[in-house]
Amino acid sequence: MVTRLLTLLAAAVTDLALPRSCLGCCRPGDTVCVTCWAATGEPRAFTPDPCPPRFPPTWVAGRYDAVLRSAVLAVKERGRSDLLPLLGAALAGAVAAAAPGSGAVLLVPVPSTRAAVRRRGGDHMRLLARRTTVELQRAGRPVTVLPALRLLRTPQDSAGLSAAERARNLDGVFAAGANTRRLAAGACVVLVDDVVTTGTTLTRCALALGEMGLQVSAAAVAGTTRRSGDRLSG
Ligand SMILES: [Zn+2]
Repeated sequence: MVTRLLTLLAAAVTDLALPRSCLGCCRPGDTVCVTCWAATGEPRAFTPDPCPPRFPPTWVAGRYDAVLRSAVLAVKERGRSDLLPLLGAALAGAVAAAAPGSGAVLLVPVPSTRAAVRRRGGDHMRLLARRTTVELQRAGRPVTVLPALRLLRTPQDSAGLSAAERARNLDGVFAAGANTRRLAAGACVVLVDDVVTTGTTLTRCALALGEMGLQVSAAAVAGTTRRSGDRLSG
C-alpha cells in the first residue's frame, strides 16, 4: 500500500511539473484537444462474436483508440483521477444510449479483484461510476450507484484465454447482495465497466444480479478492444 501511495504521489508530482498535453495527439494544451475528443465519435451498440447467451444489450462510449484507451489506462493503472470527469462524460453518453428516456437509472459497477484494488489504491470502476452519475445528474437524470456485485474468488488473469476458457475462468466468481432488488426500486439497471472484450464478464455479472431478482436492462462500457467479427453500430 505504501509503495502504491508513493507511486501515485510521484505521478501526481510529475503531472504538476510537466506541461499538459493532449492524450490523443500529444500536442501541448488541454488534456484532450477538441479534434481528438470529436474523433472518439458517438456511443454505439456493441455485440461480441461469438455472443455469449444472455449477453446484455451493450453500448460503448466511442472509438476505443487514442483518447478513450489512454484515459482508461491512466485512470486504471496510474490513478489519474483528474481524468475521471472526461471518462465520466464519455461513459454517461453510453449510459444515456443504453437507457434512453428520462427515468431513474441504477448503475452497477463491475467489481475488481481485491489484489487489483490494493495495487491501484482503490476501485476505479466505483470512482468512475460515481463520476458518471454527476454527469447524468447535470443532464437532469435521476441516477444512483449501487455496488451490488462482489467477487467470491479471484479468477486467473484472462489475458490470452479463449472465449470458452474465459467463461470457465469466471464460473462462480460474481455474486450479488441479497437486498439488491429492494434497492433498485424500479430503476433501469445498467452495468458499467471500462472495457468489454468477449462479453463474458458482463454476462456473468448480469446473471449474478438476475439470481437476486435484479434484472439488468443494459450495459455501458468506455470501449472495446475488439474489432473483427464483432458488431458495432449506431
Ligand atoms: Zn489531440
